[in-house]
Amino acid sequence: MLPFKLVYHEEYDLHLGSHVFPSQKYRLVRDALIAENIASPRDILKPEPAMDADVLRVHQTDYIHRIKKGTLSASEQMVLEIPAGPETIRAFWLAAGGSILAGQHAMKDGFSANIGGGFHHAYSGHGEGFCMIHDVAIAVRRLQADQIIQKAMVVDTDVHHGNGTAAIFAKDDSVFTLSIHQERNYPSPKPPSNIDLHLPDRIGDDEYLSILGEGMFRAFDQFQPEIIFYVGGADPYREDQLGGLSLTLDGLKERDRMVFQHARRQKVPVAITLAGGYARHVADTVRIHVNTIVAARDVLLNKPKT
Ligand SMILES: [Zn+2]
Repeated sequence: MLPFKLVYHEEYDLHLGSHVFPSQKYRLVRDALIAENIASPRDILKPEPAMDADVLRVHQTDYIHRIKKGTLSASEQMVLEIPAGPETIRAFWLAAGGSILAGQHAMKDGFSANIGGGFHHAYSGHGEGFCMIHDVAIAVRRLQADQIIQKAMVVDTDVHHGNGTAAIFAKDDSVFTLSIHQERNYPSPKPPSNIDLHLPDRIGDDEYLSILGEGMFRAFDQFQPEIIFYVGGADPYREDQLGGLSLTLDGLKERDRMVFQHARRQKVPVAITLAGGYARHVADTVRIHVNTIVAARDVLLNKPKT
């Protein structure tokens, strides 16, 4: 039913209970896509956990060993902000496998979406901000190792700066990073991306879209990737509990269309990941993510705005 593949695993859910991070959203997004006849179960692929060889192209061996042995220090646990038990570890390894699979399928179909992932705050040697390992970086490195691509771009519209992405690819000319985010928000510090669009508090749709559009032109002026990984956080939404921007649901849908249309114009495939989303009502976060998938479909099929 969809002209591209979705990637999802029921064990993406971290089962965090009343935590601000609603990790049940992955299931809710999947269920909404099916219930609304946007996708059929046959459009959805089930990932395997990433292999450690894939993870270790990005992360320090010592950090990964300490995760697996359950010996992260108290301060490491604290900055991660989620419990690091076996269920959590499996969920992050599955999300990384999911982003690899989405990258591979995006190269075939023009688009693919991992209904998970986008853990852009993970650094090579530590995790933070609900992000244990960096699924997008792991996927980029795997596609490069398989010689499917040489050059990738990461476009990150989560309301929080993509600090892990920027740090991991800082000295790497093969990966171009763009982050558009609220300046006065987590994380601090913000290591430089290739393009950082630091936004003032409470910016609305029109101003946001004009800054993003200009940033996308500038990115493609400077760099020609063979794939884009899109970190499409739902948290620039005006009702978000961890965000301070004022985008509407329509503005967020237009944001996604804009990124995808730039990619289409340049004939560059897009692998989508979901990243953050902490709206007061989980249903809004789910709607924003569902709309991202619909925007990708409409751009791929050349449908006008709905
Ligand atoms: Zn975020």
